[in-house]
Amino acid sequence: MKCPVCKTEEMIILELKQVEIDYCPSCAGIWLDEGEIELLWDPNNTEGVKDYIANLPEAKGIKEKKRKCPICNKTMFKALIGEEKKTLIDKCPKSHGIWLDAGELEEILSNAKNKDSNVIELLRDMFGSSESETF
Ligand SMILES: [Zn+2]
Ligand SMILES: [Zn+2]
Repeated sequence: MKCPVCKTEEMIILELKQVEIDYCPSCAGIWLDEGEIELLWDPNNTEGVKDYIANLPEAKGIKEKKRKCPICNKTMFKALIGEEKKTLIDKCPKSHGIWLDAGELEEILSNAKNKDSNVIELLRDMFGSSESETF
């Protein structure tokens, strides 16, 4: 699967707590298939998170560049997800999954109410801390 930002870069599959994530080594973005984010976000409430993700409204007036779904190539829409602090993500209109730019997964999981510090530790180990967008 090709990275929706770099376009030509093939993403690599990594495993994070038994969840397969597609990671772009070039821009450090992450693609999560439908049904994956809830396993990382709140394993005790996967149904709740799933509903939440499925019904995310489009965030209006966002200037950030639009991306295309790496699966169906449809233009993804912007949505804000999170509990207290919101993170701007890209979501496929056909619900194939969501795209997270560098550091966004860590941001979402760090702001989750029932956060799992093991996952966040793992993420930091895998990708370094979120302050940088290295190219
Ligand atoms: Zn990329
Ligand atoms: Zn799609």
